[in-house]
Amino acid sequence: MKSEADLLVVGGGFAGLIAALAAAENNKKTVLITFGAGSLAVGGGVVDLLGADEANRLVIRPFEHIEKMPKEHPYSLLGVRKVRGALSFFERITKDYGYPYISDGVKNSFMVTPIGKLKPTYMFYEKQHSVVLKESQDIIILGVNGLKDFFPDLLLNGFARQPLFKNKNFKVINLPSPFHKDWDLTSFEIAAFVTRDEGREWFKQTFKKNVPKSTVVIAPPILGIEPEDSVRLELAQSHGAAIIESATLPPSVLGIRLRKLLIDLLKAKGVAIIEAAKIVSSEVKAKKCLALFTSDNDRLRRYSAKEYIIATGGFFGGGAVALPGRAYEAVFNIDFDVPKVQEEWSEKKLFGVRHPFGAFGVKVDSSLRAIDSSGEPILENVRFAGRILGGYDFAAEKSGNGVALVSAYNAARG
Ligand SMILES: Cc1cc2nc3c(=O)[nH]c(=O)nc-3n(C[C@H](O)[C@H](O)[C@H](O)COP(=O)(O)OP(=O)(O)OC[C@H]3O[C@@H](n4cnc5c(N)ncnc54)[C@H](O)[C@@H]3O)c2cc1C
Repeated sequence: MKSEADLLVVGGGFAGLIAALAAAENNKKTVLITFGAGSLAVGGGVVDLLGADEANRLVIRPFEHIEKMPKEHPYSLLGVRKVRGALSFFERITKDYGYPYISDGVKNSFMVTPIGKLKPTYMFYEKQHSVVLKESQDIIILGVNGLKDFFPDLLLNGFARQPLFKNKNFKVINLPSPFHKDWDLTSFEIAAFVTRDEGREWFKQTFKKNVPKSTVVIAPPILGIEPEDSVRLELAQSHGAAIIESATLPPSVLGIRLRKLLIDLLKAKGVAIIEAAKIVSSEVKAKKCLALFTSDNDRLRRYSAKEYIIATGGFFGGGAVALPGRAYEAVFNIDFDVPKVQEEWSEKKLFGVRHPFGAFGVKVDSSLRAIDSSGEPILENVRFAGRILGGYDFAAEKSGNGVALVSAYNAARG
């Protein structure tokens, strides 16, 4: 790096992308280094703020719970005002981009999953608002022949158990495959096809031919892989269709759209993005990080900045390492507080409980700097964001992208 950056962000998942964007908006010269795309591309492309309480009960009004969360939880460390500030930031940048994410402001909404469950979520792309499902009596479940990650009958079975869908009339319509009839297809493959002119025409014509006018439709996420919505809008205008896309198994088209949106915004802000590069070591002096290093087969490459944000994910993303008896953060080798006895890392029951390992991560202060056992910051100019943080269990409490957004935005805004 020729001239020193103000900020070096490590990690290209949701937290890293948001941190880099929030910093660049604040006129900080920002560099982002990552070796992978993170879990955004496998998730639902929505921001879950808090979907379950400590007893694993459904949360309807997340802010009522956020105010009472344990003090080490990232939301408690930052406080409700900063949580709301991050959500407003995200609402604004997606609106300015032309692909607005919205929320109720108070209550969670619901997203359709591929097994016919309704998952609580807080912010979502505005045209994915599940309220149309509530309001409509007749709903079509749209499949495509050959799809192997979306099964209309599985949704039907799941919906039969949902109070919201009691007394509704569902009808399954399967569109013919756009390719050879024997091919197995994923939603991503069809979405990639629909992104092209030829695929777009195929979808619009086939949809109009097979789906009655003015209906509410639950479809797999096949309306393109870009964060733009011309196909849905045109079918709404010319055919009266209200299409809600379901989440699917990875790769997640909805997450990929959100990732593309954020990358577009970063490029527009002039953030340097260095991909396929892994930070392997650090240079630290007098409680300050002076540089981070990537390994390039033959040599180490040095990157320095005034400040650093580590958004490297958890065990899944590569940001954390677990060994027998020890778990730690991988860039600075910061140890997590873990039970000495390995058996106590997890509960005896596998499902339906909170495993202690789910909340392993870096312990931070209210500025998101790692702290030692006496509460003192370990590194003055390094902050942590996203899944690498300790004190919360994203899977159990359904807060993954919420904590990533809130911590990343506030880490970047200092
Ligand atoms: C299958 C699945 C589905 C999910 N669905 C949802 C959902 O619907 N809604 C929701 O809110 N949340 C969901 N989540 C949770 C959510 O995706 C994550 O909690 C959140 O996105 C974490 O983001 P992150 O940026 O902190 O970490 P990650 O997304 O893991 O990103 C970490 C990044 O850091 C990079 N990295 C790691 N180490 C290094 C290094 N040494 N050098 C350079 N780069 C490095 C990785 O390559 C990666 O790009 C889901 C998670 C999973 C696994």
